[in-house]
Amino acid sequence: MESPIPDYLNRVLEATRPLESGQPAGYIETLAKADTSKLAVALAMVDGTIYSAGDDQVEFSIQSISKAFVYALAIDDAGLDKVLEKIGVEPSGGAYNGIPVSVDRSTSRPMNPMINAGAIAAHALVVGPNATVEERTDRILKALSRLAGRQLHVDETVYEDELKDSGRNMGIAYILKAAGFIECDPQDAVKGYIRQCAINVNVRDLAMMAATLCNGGKQPISGDQIFPQQSVRQVLSVMTTCGMYDAAGTWVANVGIPAKSGVAGGIIGALPGQLGIAAFSPKLDKKGNSVRGVAICEKMSRDMGLHMMDASQISRSTVRVSVAIIEAGGGKGKPVEKRKVIIFSLKGAVRFTGLERLSRTIAHELSPPTPEHPDAGKHRDAYAVVISLREVYSLNKIARQILHDDIQRLLIEGRRVIVIDPTTALRMETVKDENSFHIVSYEAEARDFIGGSGCKLNPSSDLW
Ligand code: GLU
Repeated sequence: MESPIPDYLNRVLEATRPLESGQPAGYIETLAKADTSKLAVALAMVDGTIYSAGDDQVEFSIQSISKAFVYALAIDDAGLDKVLEKIGVEPSGGAYNGIPVSVDRSTSRPMNPMINAGAIAAHALVVGPNATVEERTDRILKALSRLAGRQLHVDETVYEDELKDSGRNMGIAYILKAAGFIECDPQDAVKGYIRQCAINVNVRDLAMMAATLCNGGKQPISGDQIFPQQSVRQVLSVMTTCGMYDAAGTWVANVGIPAKSGVAGGIIGALPGQLGIAAFSPKLDKKGNSVRGVAICEKMSRDMGLHMMDASQISRSTVRVSVAIIEAGGGKGKPVEKRKVIIFSLKGAVRFTGLERLSRTIAHELSPPTPEHPDAGKHRDAYAVVISLREVYSLNKIARQILHDDIQRLLIEGRRVIVIDPTTALRMETVKDENSFHIVSYEAEARDFIGGSGCKLNPSSDLW
C-alpha cells in the first residue's frame, strides 16, 4: 500500500493554485523575474521521513528564513545573554525593513531577530566581531547545509542584485553601529547578511531544516545535534511571535505553528516535537508573505490538526489505576497468601500535568479518607505499589523529578514499590531501601518480586 500523504499534498497544491493575487518581491531583480507558476510543498517528520509535491526541486533564495537559523548560530557563538543585550524579542508590528519600528525608540536596540535590524545584528554576532565577511558566511553556509542535509550554495546573481539596492539595510547597520549594537564594520555586516539571504534552497531542504528545530536541534537523518535544545526553544519562541513580518498575530491565530517566511516566496513552519513544513510560491501579499504559501499552511494546519493551541488532547487520559491479586507461597504445605497490588499505569509523553495527575491519584488511593474525600484510601491495604511506565514514551525533567519524589515518599511510608520501566525512562539511581524498591523491565519480574517466582496472578487482573 502506498502512503496517502503525497496524494494529500498534491490536493493541497491544487486547492491553492487558483489563488492569483500578489506580486513577487520587486526590489531584487532576480526575484522580480521569478516564475510565478512555481508551487511546492514538503513535510518532514522528526524521524527524517520526508514527503513533497509540486516543484519540489526548484531552488529559490532562502532570504529571511535564514534569520531563524542565524539567530541560533549567534546564540551559539556569542551566548544568549550577549544576544539578548544586542537584540530584543518583542514583535515590532512593522515591516521587516522598516527603520523607525525595527529598533527600540529610546535605545535603538533592534526589536527582534526576525526583522532586518535584528537579523543584521545577529549576523554580526556570528563567529565574532573581528571575523571577515567570508568567515561569517562560510560558518552560516556550512550550518545551513548540515541542517538541509546537503551542500547548499550562494546564488551570486541574487547577491549582486540585492547588494545594488542595499541602501536601506546599510542605513540600518550604520544606526546599529552608532548605537553600539554591532561591533564590526556596518558594510561587512550587510554584505554578509545579504549573502546569507542569497543561499539557495528547495522546499525539501527547508522542511528538513524546520524538522531539525522540531527535533530539538538534532538533524533527523544525520543525528547531529546542530543546535542545543535551549537555543531551539528561543528560536521557536521568536518565530511564533515575530516570524511572519507584521502578520504574525493573524498567522498564529489561523495557522498556529512557529514559522518564518522569506521574500523569495518560501515559508517554513516548525511544530515542536512533530513535523517541519515548507511551502513555496513567489507571489507575495502586502505584508511580504507568499499568498499561496500562507494558504497551504492554513489548509494543512486545519486538515491535519496542527495548531499548537489546539486543546483537543487533554492530558487526563495519562493515568490508569487497576488492582491485581497475586497468590504467593503455597508450596510444601504452606498456606497460599493473597497479596493485593495496586498498579498505576502512565501513558504517553508525560510532562508536568501527567505527573501531577499521577501524584494526586496515588495520594487519593493510598491516603486515609477525610471528610472532603470520604472515598479516598480504598487501597491503603495494598501489599505493593506498582508504577507501570510500559506505555510511557518519554518523561520530561520535571515529570521525572516529581515521580522520584513520589517514590521516595512511598518508601518513607514503608511501602514496597516496583516500577516497570522497559525503556529506562525513570533514570533513578538513589534508592533508600533495596528490599522495598525494584525497577524491572517486565511484568513477570514484578510478579516474581511481589509473590516469589512461580506465583500466580489472579486471571482477571491483566491490566499491568
Ligand atoms: N534580503 C532581504 C532583505 O533584507 C530579506 C528580506 C526577507 O526575506 O524578508 O531585504
